[in-house]
Amino acid sequence: MDQPILISACLLGIPCRYDGNSNPLPQLVKLLSCNQVVIPFCPETQGGLTIPRLPAEIVKGDGALVLGGKAKVINKDGEDYTEQFLKGAEAVLQMATSINPKLIILKSKSPSCGLGRIYDGSFRGRLRQGDGVTSALLRQASFQLVTEIELLTFGQILAKNYW
Ligand code: SF4
Repeated sequence: MDQPILISACLLGIPCRYDGNSNPLPQLVKLLSCNQVVIPFCPETQGGLTIPRLPAEIVKGDGALVLGGKAKVINKDGEDYTEQFLKGAEAVLQMATSINPKLIILKSKSPSCGLGRIYDGSFRGRLRQGDGVTSALLRQASFQLVTEIELLTFGQILAKNYW
């Protein structure tokens, strides 16, 4: 059987975001609708956080530093969500390890799923370099990762390579 693609669930329209909404992208759904096995994941809910929940950001660091115990994930009221984010990242890593996907599509900027750039911890919509917690763990495990933005920009090239 063809290897599946894993994808941040909110990109498929599953309402798992902190505010109970999702980020469906019709172009993405269309791109994936060619006989692909697509499996959604949501590390924040898999780590035990509720829908809705308060928004959270990584403070003074990125996902790699959170994995190393040197930064924390804090919600807008100052509550520490680090444990749930780590638990969710571990759950997604286990999924990926058992499924062996050919590609993992991640929601950009998120403190869990962001890749390369994430919110900077100020809750002002500003960005900094770095991965979210789950993305950092998946990167360490050498999975093929891409954001939805890269996928839409380079979709035709990626489609040729991956499906
Ligand atoms: Fe989407 Fe990832 Fe946030 Fe879940 S944790 S809502 S999949 S960006």
